Amino acid sequence: MKYYILFGPPGAGKGTQATAMVEKYNLHHISTGALLRKEIAAGTELGIQAKTLIENGCLVPDEIVEGMIENEFKNVTDVDGFLLDGFPRTLAQAEALDAILANENDTVTATVSIMIPDEMIMQRIKGRALKEGRADDAKEDVINNRIVTYHNQTEPLIGYYSTAGKYHEIDGTGSIEEVRKLIFEVMDRF
Ligand code: AMP
Repeated sequence: MKYYILFGPPGAGKGTQATAMVEKYNLHHISTGALLRKEIAAGTELGIQAKTLIENGCLVPDEIVEGMIENEFKNVTDVDGFLLDGFPRTLAQAEALDAILANENDTVTATVSIMIPDEMIMQRIKGRALKEGRADDAKEDVINNRIVTYHNQTEPLIGYYSTAGKYHEIDGTGSIEEVRKLIFEVMDRF
């Protein structure tokens, strides 16, 4: 099994690129954000717990998303690997992922990071808000909080995966096709 992490700030285009990645490499796409939005729409207890946090641009507790990831790993087997989109987002989650995979004698294959500058994050998310109607895309202060959360809690993962020799950053400022080509160039090496 291959385990790819799709990394990058909010609005970098992870969801957009994920579709082509899973198709080309026969992967199962796991977006913790999408799974959480599904729980909210279904009105589950987990969804109720996550809703306020998400709508304020904060992260949900590590244990919740770690449980979701483990479930998906268990339930999906007819693929060549997994594409983790929006997970891990904290060092604790990265360590939990390593432990889950070590249990199966496996390990993270590569982290593909789509990088865009902060100024572009706001612009991209505002564009997406018009199309997708996500509650956490609607307010500028919530978007700003997500950017701060990314820098404080998620960015340290760059060092974590660089040290492990598993961090591959590409320029996410180009067109969807240009970025896709750069991603495939990285993934073709594994
Ligand atoms: P996303 O769709 O990846 O932008 O995620 C939307 C929101 O869901 C985030 O702003 C967080 O509130 C929550 N979320 C998604 N993935 C995680 C995660 N791995 N850890 C904690 N919270 C998450």
